[in-house]
This record gives sequence, C-alpha cells and structure tokens, in this order.
Amino acid sequence: MSGPVPLRSDLTLLSGYHSAQVDVDVRLNTNESPLPPPEQWLDELRDELGRIAFNRYPDRGATALRAALGEFHGFDPARVFCANGSNEVLQCLLLAYGGAGRTVAVFEPTYALHSHIASLTATEVVRGWRGPDHRIDLDVVDRVLAESHPVVTFLCSPNNPTGRSEPPEVVGHVLERAPGLVVVDEAYGQFAPSSSLDLLRSRAPGTDRLVVVRTFSKTWSMAACRLGYLVAHADVVAACDAVVLPYHLDTVTQAAGRLALRHVDAMEARVAMITEERGRMATALSQLPVESWPSDANFILFRPERREATAVWEDLVAASVLVRDCSSWPGLDNCLRVTVGTAEENDRFLVALRSSLASSAHNLGRP
Ligand code: PMP
Repeated sequence: MSGPVPLRSDLTLLSGYHSAQVDVDVRLNTNESPLPPPEQWLDELRDELGRIAFNRYPDRGATALRAALGEFHGFDPARVFCANGSNEVLQCLLLAYGGAGRTVAVFEPTYALHSHIASLTATEVVRGWRGPDHRIDLDVVDRVLAESHPVVTFLCSPNNPTGRSEPPEVVGHVLERAPGLVVVDEAYGQFAPSSSLDLLRSRAPGTDRLVVVRTFSKTWSMAACRLGYLVAHADVVAACDAVVLPYHLDTVTQAAGRLALRHVDAMEARVAMITEERGRMATALSQLPVESWPSDANFILFRPERREATAVWEDLVAASVLVRDCSSWPGLDNCLRVTVGTAEENDRFLVALRSSLASSAHNLGRP
C-alpha cells in the first residue's frame, strides 16, 4: 500500500477481512439471518425513535441495555459490556489486554478477525492447528499454552468457518491450562447444543478468566444494527469500558437491542427453522461429490471433490447465489462455506451447486 505518508510498518502486510458484496438474489456468504426482524419489534423501535433526544449523546454506560442483557442471561449488569458488533467487543478486549510484548493464541482454521485484530493492536499471534476433522487437539492446546503463555486464548464455538461447537470439557480443559483470559466467541451460540455461559454461571475455579462474546447479527436478524456484547468478570468489563471510545454505542442501537429482548420467542423460532434447514442441507450435500463437515451453526463448510472451489463459486455467482470462497484460507484448501438460508434460498443453492458439480470445466483431475 502506498500513499503520501508511509503506513505503520507492521501493517503493510495485513489486508482487511472482507467478503465480496456482489449484487445477487441469494446471499449465503456472511452468515446473517435470512429473515427480517419481527414486525412488532420494528413498530416498537419506530415508537422509540419518536422519543429519542437526538441532540444529546447516548447513555455512555448503555445502562438499560446492559440491565436487560444481564437479566436475560442471569448476570449482574456490571458483568456485561456492549459495543458495535462483537468485532468491536473483540477489539476492546485486545486494546485492553493485548499490545506490544503480549501474545494471543488461536486454533486455526478459525475466525480470521481474532488474529487480525490482535495484529492491528500489535499483539503477537501464536497459532495451533486443528486436526484434519477440524477438531481442537488438546495436546496441541497444551503445547501452545505452555510455550507461549498467551494473555488471551481464543476459542470460537461454534467455530467459524468449520462449524462445530466446542464441548464444555474442551472449554474447561483450556481454562484450566490457559494462564490468561479465555475468550469464547459464541457468535453462533444459539445454534449449538451447549454454551460457555453455563460454565460462567457455575462460578467454577478459573471462570473469573472466562469471557463469552455474543452478537445480535445472526439469530436476532439485526446485522444492520451492529450490536455485540460480552459477559465476563466485572473487572474485564471495566477494562473494556476504559479503552472504548466515549459514547461509542448510539441510542438507536441501544434501544434496538433492548427491544429485541422482548422477542425471544421469535428468535427461537428462527433458530429452529434454520436448524431444520441445516439438517436438510447437510443431507443434500452428503449425496453430492463434496466433502462436508458437521455443523452446530447456521453455515456448512464443504469441499468439492472433483472441481476447483473457485470455479464452483463462480458458477454459483452466475446463478445469482453468493457463498464464501474459503479456498485460499490456511488449512481450508478448496473449501467453500454456505450460510443456511430460507428453504427457497437453500433450494436455489442446491440446484446451482448440483449443476456446477456436474460440469467438467476446471476439473481437479481426480476420478
Ligand atoms: N465472531 C464470529 C465467529 C463471526 O463469525 C462474526 C461475524 N462474521 C463475528 C464475531 C462478528 O460479528 P458482528 O461484529 O457482526 O457482531
């Protein structure tokens, strides 16, 4: 990158994390909800808009939203921190706990923003690698933690982009061995069979170092709002409050999140619909010449066996279906990731995929 002034030297090799924003009919590339939020939520938000004092800064402490989230999950509001999407939550954690001379650990392949934000905050990243089934290998965990003494160890459950959630025993093991914070990113937590919020509630030894991060972008159908949060020890919340910009979370977003919590039933119905569709997609993929991995989230990772993933991705775009091309990501050779959409969207994807896989162009030369 060039320009009138040289960029920070440690940033020159970094590129942002961006998914293609292509104008298509069926967008299955960024793991959002395929459905809009409930109509009633929108009505309530419209009402609320009429009452907002737009000439005033927002409540800096997001008091009402934190109280509502605390009540929802069964925690004191002092243990909840909110920001503009869970990415900003992760950034605050790394501003507070990362930095020069400090190390974080990640287990690849995993959510790219964990290592990306660490690098942006000049924090060293140490990587352990998952096994061929994408499961975390506890021997690798032990070695990485013993060698690098990370100030933050990231887990992602369910793991983006591979799909599986971490069983409580794995989180417990990591918490026992990790010297610093253990951040469990549960952006897709509502789709999974277990949550580290239960471990946090148990107050078991070590849980004062456990941080659970969640978002409104997926199951809550509110990606446009940019709202995420963490639940952790009150000292972790205080540390994030100390580094975040003043008045970072606008009044509309705070209201949107607080009102959404009145519509838990609608959110749960969406999770049920998507989980059912995920099962249908998994079955359909298992009948095609692709390798696919089990998912506890709202997306599925798969690898065409005989065709180049990028050529398949292009065929899908030509059919107006957008998925994520992960084929250049480390450890994800020839892989694509598809978000579970509505039944109609998933059908469009499956029809286009079947047709692409039947083509002999860009064949990998395997039988
Ligand atoms: N964590 C994970 C694992 C994600 O996949 C995403 C979204 N891609 C995020 C965090 C960030 O979500 P948001 O900033 O929209 O809350």
